[in-house]
Amino acid sequence: MLKPGQTIGILGGGQLARMLALAAAPFGLRCHIFAPEADSPAFDVAYAHTIADYADEPALARFAEAVDVITYEFENVPAHTAAFLAARRPVRPDPQALAITQDRLSEKQFLTSLGLPLAPFWEINSLTDLEAALAVSGRPAVLKTRRFGYDGKGQVMIREGDDAAAALAQLGTAPAVLEGFVPFTREVSVVVARALDGRVAAYDLCENNHKNHILSQTLVPAQVDGKATELALQYAQTLASSLGYVGVMAVEMFVVGESGDEQILVNEIAPRVHNSGHWTIEGAETSQFAQHIRAVAGWPLGSASRLGRVRMDNLVGEEAEDWLVLLSDPQAHLHLYGKAEARKGRKMGHVTFVTPE
Ligand code: AMP
Repeated sequence: MLKPGQTIGILGGGQLARMLALAAAPFGLRCHIFAPEADSPAFDVAYAHTIADYADEPALARFAEAVDVITYEFENVPAHTAAFLAARRPVRPDPQALAITQDRLSEKQFLTSLGLPLAPFWEINSLTDLEAALAVSGRPAVLKTRRFGYDGKGQVMIREGDDAAAALAQLGTAPAVLEGFVPFTREVSVVVARALDGRVAAYDLCENNHKNHILSQTLVPAQVDGKATELALQYAQTLASSLGYVGVMAVEMFVVGESGDEQILVNEIAPRVHNSGHWTIEGAETSQFAQHIRAVAGWPLGSASRLGRVRMDNLVGEEAEDWLVLLSDPQAHLHLYGKAEARKGRKMGHVTFVTPE
């Protein structure tokens, strides 16, 4: 268990690490950020930082030496980096959670082994595999790389009349999975925390709207039947417990069917704090960032209760230029990530509104 004054090492220096470091400060905990990019947003607010590649072993060894526990803000931490660090300091969540969730196939096999509902899927290593799978799945279907996909990257929809070989070529030669198309009515997520002692706290079900495959808005609570909502929360808690997870994770899910007969399908697991949980900073008793810090420090979790109806709007690319207009609403909680360049599709900030119920 960490004591105030000790240091949490964070791999990755983006906005998630920045908000983690901000959440650690009120507990008297320090954060040391390890990231390759010299202009990492988290450096502005952290006690210390290291600029080095994730393969740089001397730098990793010095980093491990300087911190008391290690966590990460992104799921693509190389397996070797995680293993190297885990031999020196506790890494939370355990690198096993990374190994399972970095590969869509192993993630889906894990979900299946727990009996959780998900879209049908097929392992694809060749055009022959793909053609055979499409014959069963029908079209449309979604072809996804097994690794390194995010925000809709590394995936292609195969519709009636589309050439399977061209779809495969579009992903490169990467191993892939084919997923049956899900005619979802809503996309939702559950942000859930698990403490070192096994206690679990889930936040209310979030409803997520995307623009150009990037999260645009989160509304809480999601407008989903009570029974389906209950199941979604249960699935996330089962996943956190089955992984022996320590920290905050998010489970993205699809809702299918009409009100009164809604079903939940699990889409994917993000083994980290998540954009659909940013609303918890002002909208819940304990933010997802404070919750993650408490969990990796070995401390008890805080309450995940919601404080009202919540809307979180992401500020993507030039949308963040409206910061002054947004500030003119005294109810708006504005967050800017300190990124110098507002590239298209880049998450620059977010704004949250909480309306008491
Ligand atoms: P993912 O990278 O798996 O989160 O997918 C990105 C987005 O593509 C999701 O948020 C959905 O909007 C869409 N999508 C992914 N998989 C499917 C599917 N099997 N059926 C329908 N839409 C999907």
